[in-house]
Amino acid sequence: MSKTFYQRVIDIIKSIPEGKVPTHGQIAAYAGNSHASRQFAYILHSSSRKQNLPWHRVVNSKGSISLKPGYGYELQKEMLKDEEIIFNKLESNKWIMDYHIHTTLSDGKGNHDAYIRMAQKRKIDEIGFSDHLCLKKVSWAMELSQISSMIETINHLKKNSKVVIKLGVEMDYFPGFEDKIKEIIAGIPFDYVIGSVHFINDWTVDHPDNISEYEKWDVYELYKVYFNLVQQTANSKLFDIIGHPDLIKKFGFKPKRDISDLLEETAEIFKNSGICIEINTSGLTKPCKEIYPSKKLLKMCFDKGVPVTLGSDAHRPQDIGQHFDEAIKLIKEIGYIEIVQFTKRKRKFIRI
Ligand SMILES: [Zn+2]
Ligand SMILES: [Zn+2]
Repeated sequence: MSKTFYQRVIDIIKSIPEGKVPTHGQIAAYAGNSHASRQFAYILHSSSRKQNLPWHRVVNSKGSISLKPGYGYELQKEMLKDEEIIFNKLESNKWIMDYHIHTTLSDGKGNHDAYIRMAQKRKIDEIGFSDHLCLKKVSWAMELSQISSMIETINHLKKNSKVVIKLGVEMDYFPGFEDKIKEIIAGIPFDYVIGSVHFINDWTVDHPDNISEYEKWDVYELYKVYFNLVQQTANSKLFDIIGHPDLIKKFGFKPKRDISDLLEETAEIFKNSGICIEINTSGLTKPCKEIYPSKKLLKMCFDKGVPVTLGSDAHRPQDIGQHFDEAIKLIKEIGYIEIVQFTKRKRKFIRI
């Protein structure tokens, strides 16, 4: 083999940045000989250690991990995971994350380990725990005093799990309490913060015990009040993600009047605030039988360039990733080609 081909291959491999996973063939072709993949494999194999190459970023022609199980596969996978490589072509063909999960710390029915086991079983690559945190004292949220042990648990899981683990939270927004919320968030090393509206004054709108409250409202007025709070949540710029943006439809109360203007105004505020919205699949199991947000609102968000994440709002391990096929089908149909991944409150776009 010519020395120049060798040197070119080495230079190219050295320059592969974190986050990219080119194939053998692509590198061989780039080095000037697309038929030299055998020579390429030899160079990669013989020189990786000597030259300190980021060999693990090179994948096979199918876009999969190039080494065989028992012969480096596990190491390569681990190294890619450490770099949070979104190997959308590796193994499952797409990277799936579930960012909305409640454990026994708040109102969920499973502990962290049970969720992780289920995520592995369902081939979900990344999960974020997002237990409730609420300034009002409620039975379904964790206490502020539990936060340090939560951080410790998650940090341990981050290091020891086969699934990528994120530290999230679902926090209630209350108008006028922005400073307090900000102060709490600032003290915790979250990967992302979901801002949700569950309350209208003292009424928890999504609690089944309080359905009769809906009868007291003109539904259109109620939607206006709810979306106004959601808009304020986005405008507060305290959060990374808006949780279940149209939760008010949960029990199937729908206004008779057209709400297009209200939705349009809300989507515009999402765009201007720079927030990401959550595709929350739990609505499909509720009386509204619809993903949050509705297709109509989602389409408006897409048209304005509002990004999305995925969440099941799991309260039991078996809820993890529920109806994600449907969610991904919906967002693709609308035109989305990317979803957002969060790490330490920074975004990365991942192709779906
Ligand atoms: Zn919620
Ligand atoms: Zn939730």
